[in-house]
Amino acid sequence: MKVTLIGSGMAGLTAGAYLARAGHAVTVFEQFSAPGGVTATVRQEGYGWDLGPLLLEGFAPGDKGRLILEELGVSDRVKAVHEDRGLVLRELALWKPKEYEGPYWRRERLKRVFPEESAGLDRYYRFYDQMIGLMGLGRQAETAQGLKALWLKLRMLLAFQGVKGAANWTGSQLMDHYFQSPALKTLFLGIVADFVTAPSEFPALGVPSLHFETAFDKRIPTYPGTRSGQNAYSYLIGGCQTMADAVLGVIQQNGGKLFTNTTVKKITIENGRATGVVLADGHFEASDLVLASGGMREVFFGLVGREHLSAELITQIEHNRLMESVLMVHLGIDFDPTPYQPAALCYYYQTQDLETAVQRLRAGHYHEGKEGLLIYVPSLHSPSLAPPGHHAVTVYTVAPDTLAEGTWGTRREELADKLVAEAERHVPGLRAHTKTRLILTPEDFRARVHVDHHSFGGVPPVIGNKPPAHKTPVPGLWFIGAQSEGMGGVMSVMVGAQKVARRILQAP
Ligand SMILES: Cc1cc2nc3c(=O)[nH]c(=O)nc-3n(C[C@H](O)[C@H](O)[C@H](O)COP(=O)(O)OP(=O)(O)OC[C@H]3O[C@@H](n4cnc5c(N)ncnc54)[C@H](O)[C@@H]3O)c2cc1C
Repeated sequence: MKVTLIGSGMAGLTAGAYLARAGHAVTVFEQFSAPGGVTATVRQEGYGWDLGPLLLEGFAPGDKGRLILEELGVSDRVKAVHEDRGLVLRELALWKPKEYEGPYWRRERLKRVFPEESAGLDRYYRFYDQMIGLMGLGRQAETAQGLKALWLKLRMLLAFQGVKGAANWTGSQLMDHYFQSPALKTLFLGIVADFVTAPSEFPALGVPSLHFETAFDKRIPTYPGTRSGQNAYSYLIGGCQTMADAVLGVIQQNGGKLFTNTTVKKITIENGRATGVVLADGHFEASDLVLASGGMREVFFGLVGREHLSAELITQIEHNRLMESVLMVHLGIDFDPTPYQPAALCYYYQTQDLETAVQRLRAGHYHEGKEGLLIYVPSLHSPSLAPPGHHAVTVYTVAPDTLAEGTWGTRREELADKLVAEAERHVPGLRAHTKTRLILTPEDFRARVHVDHHSFGGVPPVIGNKPPAHKTPVPGLWFIGAQSEGMGGVMSVMVGAQKVARRILQAP
């Protein structure tokens, strides 16, 4: 078949690689000048930084993303290191101990800082363990068959009884149930604000999976090395572009083609079926199948057209909330930041009012870094990303796609300066030691991935959100990528694309 892919992010590349290997004629159209979507590594004056993803789940040996790379025959080209990150609140800094103190060291440390919360912490960690047990069974059930599958389902049903009470709660109800301290509530739930989801909009049972203990200490046993439901997190050595390049290579080695600087303007539909795409220069590319990644509104309303969609699908798309964007400042510096930040990545949370923070963000009010930010030093695990003795540093924070006051274009330098000034409260000397600087605003991200509203992780985990299914109502058209998944992350878009490719290949 002639297969057209719209977009060369990890979703498009993964689906394209599977289909090209199976002998289909694959063509990838990418509107930007380089492939990779947000899984790209950008370079300037001898430094390199990742444009998007940092610490990835799913790429440890035996995990889903790694298995995809193995199936595609490029695993040895995508080297990863199992790592973890720090977490700093106004009240405390949680860096892992030098000597491993077991899987519950954070609970014990928190009890010392918040002695009045000791009973709540014990209860929360019991709930956490129950959820981890449930997730571990779920993972085994994914591949089990026959009697074993039945047995695992039964065990899951029994395990669920332990957490059933919280099944209809929101994240904020869960936190209120266990803790009094706003700091503790922020510690366990702060990450949902990054996803522009208020604690009151997030399902309680999802809290443990967004805050795995293993993200903070790589020595804690992880899935898939053990039966634990807790993930291992990895950095890709040399930057994320290594993975995009390796998977693109599979397409090209199998005769597939990539056209950059080529925007798809329309998906043509004849007699109710997708028949190809029209490019910005008017060229028509006939196709048996079209796989589109990108924004759900841009693809369905812009490229397909509402006239081809059911009223139900239109309402579903219109009602999905999207995440907001990020302001990212990449720095090349000439000193070692590890005396201030011992891990390559650390999240610094300043606000404890996550509900208000999320509402303000949605209304376009940018916090200028005062509510929190993260600092990432990729050259600590990938020395090739900075000259010897220097480091590549990324400072970024969640930011509204559109500012309520001014525009990103007119305020980029001012807001980048303010963000770095906030970062200097944690790593002093950043400004004085900056050798080069690269700013990426939400406007830059919009242009980079061709969306009207930049949503950095796709569809947020807000209760009631439901992204469009991969199989669209238009025969011959599939929807893949971050906005087709419950919560887009690199592994989940690759697994989604793999599923779509398998369905296509298995179709009669
Ligand atoms: C700042 C940031 C931090 C992140 N951090 C993490 C993290 O730590 N861990 C994690 O797992 N995930 C993270 N993510 C999310 C993850 O990177 C993305 O969800 C995932 O990589 C998206 O892949 P994709 O292929 O769906 O989309 P993209 O990578 O956005 O690719 C889509 C491509 O389609 C192209 N395109 C769109 N429309 C058209 C058109 N009409 N014609 C031609 N080309 C078109 C775009 O130019 C783009 O290149 C992060 C994302 C960002 C932005």
